Amino acid sequence: MFDFHMHSTFSADCDTPMEDTIEQAIAKGFTDICFTEHIDYEYPDPTIQFELDIDAYRKKIAHMNNIYGDKITIRRGVEIGVQPHLLKKYEKLIQQENFEFILCSMHTTDQQGLHSRDLFKGRTVEEAFRVYYEELLYCVQNFDAYDVLAHVDLVKRYTDTPTTDQCYDIIEEIFKTIIPKGKGIEVNTSGYRYGLGTGMPSEDILTLYKQCGGEIITLGSDSHEADTVGYKFKDSLDVLKRLGFTYVTSFENRTPKIHPIETLKSLNC
Ligand SMILES: [Zn+2]
Ligand SMILES: [Zn+2]
Repeated sequence: MFDFHMHSTFSADCDTPMEDTIEQAIAKGFTDICFTEHIDYEYPDPTIQFELDIDAYRKKIAHMNNIYGDKITIRRGVEIGVQPHLLKKYEKLIQQENFEFILCSMHTTDQQGLHSRDLFKGRTVEEAFRVYYEELLYCVQNFDAYDVLAHVDLVKRYTDTPTTDQCYDIIEEIFKTIIPKGKGIEVNTSGYRYGLGTGMPSEDILTLYKQCGGEIITLGSDSHEADTVGYKFKDSLDVLKRLGFTYVTSFENRTPKIHPIETLKSLNC
């Protein structure tokens, strides 16, 4: 079993040493994990800089594989925070550095933070959702240097006000753009931890992904603490099975590797 979204002290918003997370992953029966440390250029909150010391990161992952490699494979991934005007810069970075797996995320929309909820200032919830998905669509139409689109419906996490407009028309366009390019999405189980009662994306959006012909799905806990590795993976596999998906995907040097859901049963979490 694998978990393809987690952070360590190499991410600006995380204090958890890699060793702690790796040991938890081994204890829970994982055999393949991928750290996806943040690079988020021009993040709008000046108190935090999402930069990554790539050389030190490469060395650390190699060292971790020397120590733990007989029990688990540890991969060197990255989570990039895209914005329309930064796509060329990210393209260059990905060309230069041979990351093993790349998550494409959008944490900033219209140069305003989601986390700070600035995106919602002066907009209705409906407007904010549309701006978020339109900008995500623009990014996937103009950018290919990634493997999996992370937490597609992240915008939901930052509002307590329900909206009737779930922007399915734009999300469908996003899926119809990424699927023919061989890109996937993830089920990000941090949605359960943040009170959404579901992974990200939610079941309605996973159903839409399936209807659009989407097949590539990774599982990621988005752990910033060791004990959340693999959180709600069993439930998420059940959801995927119920929606008609038959396999999930991991990556090996940016190449997808499929695993029938039926074969993924021995998890201690
Ligand atoms: Zn993220
Ligand atoms: Zn993350």
